[in-house]
Amino acid sequence: MGKVKMPTIFVGHGSPMSALPHNIYGEAWRNLGLKLNKPKAILLISAHWTIDETAVSDVLKPQQIYDFYNFPEELYAIKYTPPGSPELAKQVIKILSPILEVKINNDWGIDHGAWIPLRSFFPEADVPVVQLSLDYSQPADIHYRIGQALRPLRKQGILIIGSGDIVHNLGRIKPDEKAEPYVWAKKFEERVLQHIAKKEHKFLIDYNNIGSEANLAIPTSEHYLPLLYILGLQDGDDQIDYFVEGTAYGSISMTSFMVH
Ligand code: ZN
Repeated sequence: MGKVKMPTIFVGHGSPMSALPHNIYGEAWRNLGLKLNKPKAILLISAHWTIDETAVSDVLKPQQIYDFYNFPEELYAIKYTPPGSPELAKQVIKILSPILEVKINNDWGIDHGAWIPLRSFFPEADVPVVQLSLDYSQPADIHYRIGQALRPLRKQGILIIGSGDIVHNLGRIKPDEKAEPYVWAKKFEERVLQHIAKKEHKFLIDYNNIGSEANLAIPTSEHYLPLLYILGLQDGDDQIDYFVEGTAYGSISMTSFMVH
């Protein structure tokens, strides 16, 4: 009997407000969580741990980080403290060694790009979590290649999650979560989804050429790059299922999918 292959997930985490009760995105994430088998551990690439090196943390008890400001108090009271996994950190360092050196870095913890969706997927907080930093010193194709190199972990019970947003422009947000998306946001995302459907990953790595809307959709790349890891992790026979589609606040894509 072959080993079961874990799915891999791209989640559009959007605003910390998604963590409030009865939020439609939080509910969609909970529904997905009900369909997931419990992984041995989670490796998560968050838009919010962007540093100039590729690193993992290897502590047993990572701290929860409230890396957002001027939001309602109740968001700062949410506790989500899964264990870490020094064992998974070691595996990641080894498996990526042909591409680059992965450092140990315990300056960070479980940030809101991680704990907000994770607390819906796995409310018990009993699955160990390791974050892999987003190395801003690397070009886009390296982020994709790191994803490819991580593929064998899927057969070892590891759930790999990229947490960002396909479109993310904070400068343009509208006050209402349910606001109509900007035309440029919609157009850009439509093209991205077409390329994903056709497995045209090269176009998605060279994202500035996707269209003139790219400047507005990706003013900075940290929310887009986690997508490239998940595309790199896609095997030829995998399918893609979208569990959230659409845009919040006009300029933040919430579109999320599972590759399996
Ligand atoms: Zn974010």
